[in-house]
Amino acid sequence: MRAAIISDIHSNLEALQAVEKSIFDLGVDEIHFVGDVVGYGPDPNACTRWVIDNTVMAVMGNHDFAALGLMDIESFNPNARKAITWNAEQMEGRCIEYLGSLPMRQSQGDLTLVHANPKDPEGWNYIFSLWDAEMNFPHFEGAFCFVGHSHQPVAVGLDGEGGVNLTPGDVIPVEEGFRYLINVGSVGQPRDGNPAACFGLLDTDRGQFSFIRVPYEVGVTQRKMVEAGLPRALVERLAEGR
Ligand code: ZN
Repeated sequence: MRAAIISDIHSNLEALQAVEKSIFDLGVDEIHFVGDVVGYGPDPNACTRWVIDNTVMAVMGNHDFAALGLMDIESFNPNARKAITWNAEQMEGRCIEYLGSLPMRQSQGDLTLVHANPKDPEGWNYIFSLWDAEMNFPHFEGAFCFVGHSHQPVAVGLDGEGGVNLTPGDVIPVEEGFRYLINVGSVGQPRDGNPAACFGLLDTDRGQFSFIRVPYEVGVTQRKMVEAGLPRALVERLAEGR
């Protein structure tokens, strides 16, 4: 079984279409989405419709939650706030309804999805350290928990003796008896210095997980953002991947 796990699309249709092509070329069996379909970018409806049509499991992100008016956006920085307000204004009924139906976490077999962390999904706290990761392992069942939120691709493994370690590299062999907490990075707003869209590929036949990077036409998305009057800083950061 090959599953693509994608997160943090953030209304970036060009990045999403590039990822879709890559997923198609890879011959993936199912696609799962880890939250934040809207916010920051210029195409909230097209991206939400894509998630509706293409994903098996999907969960709520904090920007989705904010677009629904379910959280106080004072915790967002001013640019993120402007963008989420603009996104919410554009959204069509079917897409709003779908966002409202998203659960905070979802599991199927060995896979759990949750946007920020499995310990307290609605607290929206980031997993930034090995300590944070260690605290979260007891809060999901099965071998894999996929998260997003920080837009930083990173995988942490828990071995049979309780040791928690970073598993470096783009291709990670899945070890027998290990469990994994993996941030799949961001499709629409990567922040690890690489502007290419990022997603995760779990191949259970080969016993490996891979981070896949896909370049896309950043300039097209940027032009749409300028036309929509979205904040300049958000336009610029896309090209820098930060
Ligand atoms: Zn996000």
